[in-house]
Amino acid sequence: MTDLYQRIADRARELEPEISRMLADLVRVPSFTGQEGEVVQVAMKMMAAIGFDDIRIDGLGNLIGRLGCGSRALAFDAHLDVVRPGDRSLWRDDPFTPRIEGGQIWGRGTADQKGGFAAMLGAATIIKELGLNRGFSLYFTGTVMEEDCDGLCWKYLVEEERLRPELVVLTEPSGLKLARGQRGRMDIQVRVQGRSCHGSTPERGDNAIYKISRVALELEKLHARLEEGPVLGKGSLCVSQVFFTGPSQCAVPDSAERCDSSPLIGKLVSSTTAAMTIAPPSMVRARRRSSDSAP
Ligand SMILES: [Zn+2]
Repeated sequence: MTDLYQRIADRARELEPEISRMLADLVRVPSFTGQEGEVVQVAMKMMAAIGFDDIRIDGLGNLIGRLGCGSRALAFDAHLDVVRPGDRSLWRDDPFTPRIEGGQIWGRGTADQKGGFAAMLGAATIIKELGLNRGFSLYFTGTVMEEDCDGLCWKYLVEEERLRPELVVLTEPSGLKLARGQRGRMDIQVRVQGRSCHGSTPERGDNAIYKISRVALELEKLHARLEEGPVLGKGSLCVSQVFFTGPSQCAVPDSAERCDSSPLIGKLVSSTTAAMTIAPPSMVRARRRSSDSAP
């Protein structure tokens, strides 16, 4: 067993440059949620080069590679979508031109979660070479739409693809520690109603931005008070978006809305995370559309 462990460790070390190359190739392809088609094709070619026994794309767009055809099933998973880079002027380099420095790779998605996917392919290479999957069907999934729709990809794999592995290893970044649970997440949208008037006489109106700001500041305090769970640690919450409407720049805004997206912790109910959006739904949709068309 010790000898086998050593062989795996030695081979993993040898494969480091190849795994780094695959990661860089994945980072080079922007793959925002819902736009993963190109990166899935790149990942598919990597699987083909390794010699997977079966590679396919399901109806949702998830990439599914299989090694072996044993009666027992295990799965390894990494999502292939990434969040947007935000304000590019705050990046030292282009987020989609990976830079290797000091043994680390920099670029959007290197940690969350293309690094996990590249490492999975390194593991698949070793498993195949050393014949470690006897009796097992090993599924390696490159899933889609995870960032915006937590859990949807695996709901589809389980319910539509009938993939029922005994165990799934998610390669989400966890500081190289094995984690055995996840806090979960709740998205909460809060809307406040204001009343518009001319900005020169704000006392005649009811400023929706002031109102939603008070809610946001209370949530900031709530975050500090969330409980510590024995297994999953402390709960967290954050206000992630604020929207508003108003007739003009010189008028008191008449509505505001925010979205709290919050990982839950330990005792699920007591520790929520929140993100808020301030605005009528129509405005939220319009903003999402415009950001979807961004590069
Ligand atoms: Zn992730």
